[in-house]
Amino acid sequence: MDVKYIFITGGVISSVGKGVTCAAIGRLLKERGIKVAIQKLDPYINVDPGTMSPYQHGEVYVLDDGAETDLDLGHYERFVDINLSSVCNITTGQVYAEVIGKERRGDYLGGTIQVIPHITNEIKRRIGLVSKDTGAEVVLVEVGGTVGDIESLPFIEALRQMRTDAGRDNTFYIHTTWLPHIGATNELKTKPTQHSVRELRALGISPQMIVARADYPIPADLCAKMAQFCDVEQRAVVPMHTTDVMYEVPLLLENLGVGDYLMEALNIKPRKQANWTDWEKLVKQARTKKPVVRVALVGKYVELHDAYMSVRESLYHAGLALGVQVEIDWLHSAELEKGRGWNEVQAADAILVPGGFGGRGIEGKIQAAQYARENKVPYLGLCLGMQLMVVEFARNVLGYTEANSTEFDPVSSYPVIDLMPDQRNIADMGATMRLGVYPCEMQQGSIAAEAYNNGVVQERHRHRYEFNNAYREAFEQHGMRLSGISPDDRLVEISELADHPFMLGTQFHPEFLSRPTRPHPLFVAFVKAAAERAGVNQQAIPLDIEVSH
Ligand code: GLN
Repeated sequence: MDVKYIFITGGVISSVGKGVTCAAIGRLLKERGIKVAIQKLDPYINVDPGTMSPYQHGEVYVLDDGAETDLDLGHYERFVDINLSSVCNITTGQVYAEVIGKERRGDYLGGTIQVIPHITNEIKRRIGLVSKDTGAEVVLVEVGGTVGDIESLPFIEALRQMRTDAGRDNTFYIHTTWLPHIGATNELKTKPTQHSVRELRALGISPQMIVARADYPIPADLCAKMAQFCDVEQRAVVPMHTTDVMYEVPLLLENLGVGDYLMEALNIKPRKQANWTDWEKLVKQARTKKPVVRVALVGKYVELHDAYMSVRESLYHAGLALGVQVEIDWLHSAELEKGRGWNEVQAADAILVPGGFGGRGIEGKIQAAQYARENKVPYLGLCLGMQLMVVEFARNVLGYTEANSTEFDPVSSYPVIDLMPDQRNIADMGATMRLGVYPCEMQQGSIAAEAYNNGVVQERHRHRYEFNNAYREAFEQHGMRLSGISPDDRLVEISELADHPFMLGTQFHPEFLSRPTRPHPLFVAFVKAAAERAGVNQQAIPLDIEVSH
C-alpha cells in the first residue's frame, strides 16, 4: 500500500498549538489501528537544537536513538505513545550539510547546486525516510514556524511537490490558524485566516482542512465563512476552542469528526474502532478537584516553563494516576543562593532538581538537595540533579568539603562527578554527549527496583559527566545506595539514600518516557512520597491506569 502523508502548516501566529494538534491527529489514527509516525521540519540552520539554549528553544527532547530534537517530538510521543527516531526531526542545517557534503565529494560534478531541486529533493528524501524507518502507513509532517516565513519556503515547496510525487490521493494538507478576538465588539475575526490561506495558496498549496483555534467559542457561521472564503469543505473547518486540559484535544478533534474525515479523504479503512475510554478517564480525572501536592522545581531556566516541558508533563501524569493535583513552584536556584525563595522550598512537599548545564545557580541546587536530605523531604534529581545530590552528600556527609563536579571545578580535590573517559578528547559540542537509551540494572530491594518492579530498564540519556567510580565504596559505606548500574558495571545510573523516605537521583532522563496513559514509575513513586508527606494520600482517588515502563 502507498504511504499516506498529512502535512500540517501554521498560519497567522506561532504558538497556536500546532504541535499538539498534530500529535492529537496522530492519536486519532492510532486509535483506528493505523500505524503512524510524525515528523517535524524545523527551518533553523542549527543541525539540531542540542547546541541551543533552552531560553531560545525550550527543552531539548531526546529520542531512543539519541537524536536531540524539538520539544514537539515530546508531544508526538506522549499523545500517540510511540517511540520515534532521528529521521523524525529535520532542520535546514541537516539538509544543507548533506547537500554541501555531496557537492564537496563531487556527487554533482558539473552541476549548479540550487534550492530547487537539490535542497527540496533532499527534504523530500528525508520525508520519505520516515515510513522506511518506522514502517508507518501514515506519516504526519509538521512544518515549524508560520506560513510566509522566508526560511521555511523550501520546506513548503517540498510539500507542494509531494502532492505530485506521492499522488493526490495520498496527500492531505491541513492549515492551523488563530482567530483573534476583538474585545470592544466581542467578536472573533477570520480575516487573518483568509490571508494566511491566500499566502499558502500563493505558494501552491491549497489546504484541505483548516483547524482554527480561538480562546472563545467559535460560532457556526464563522466556520461557514471560513469554508466559503478558504475553499475548504464545511466539514473540514475545525473550530478548536482552547481547552484547559491539553489531553482533551484528541477527544475534541474526534467529536468534531476529524478522524473520520481524514480516513475518508485518504481512503483508509480503520482496522479497529477507536476506544477513548482511557482518555476520557484521564480528562475527567484532570478536571476533578484533587488534593494539592506542592513540588518545588529548582532550576535554571524557570522563567520559561517550556524548558522543562517533559518534567512538567511527567509530574502531571503521575498526579493524574495517583489522584493528586501537582502544583509546581518554579524556583530559580541562583535566587536560593541569595537567600530568596526558601519560604517556597519550606512550603513544598517535595523538591525536584532537573537537568542542566553550566555553573550558574549550581550552589543553590546543592543547598536545595541538602535541605531535602536533612529535612527528609522527598527529592528527585534528574541528570544534573542526581550529580548535585552526590556532590552535596560528599560535602556534607562524607566531609569532602571541596567536592564538586569537574564541570564546575576542573581542579576539585574531590571530583565526585567527572567527565566520562570517552568524552575526554571530544572537540565538537554538537551531538557528542552520551545520548539515547542505555540499560540500567536495578539493585534488589532498592527504592528504584521497587518502583520499576523490573530488573533491567532502558532509559534515555544526555550527559558528559558521571559518578566517579573511585568513590563508590565511600558513598555506599555512608548510606548512599548506588541502586542502578549499567550492566557492564561502568556507570552509576541511579543513586538513592537508604535513610530517607525518597531521595533518588537518575543519571538518565525518565521524563522522556512518561506517557499520560502510562506514567513513569519513578515519577509516580516520587509524587506518592510527596503526597504522603503532604498527608493527602488518604483522600486521593487514584486513576485506574497502568504504571509501566
Ligand atoms: N551537565 C551535566 C552533564 O553534562 C548534566 C547534563 C544534564 O543534566 N542533562 O553531565
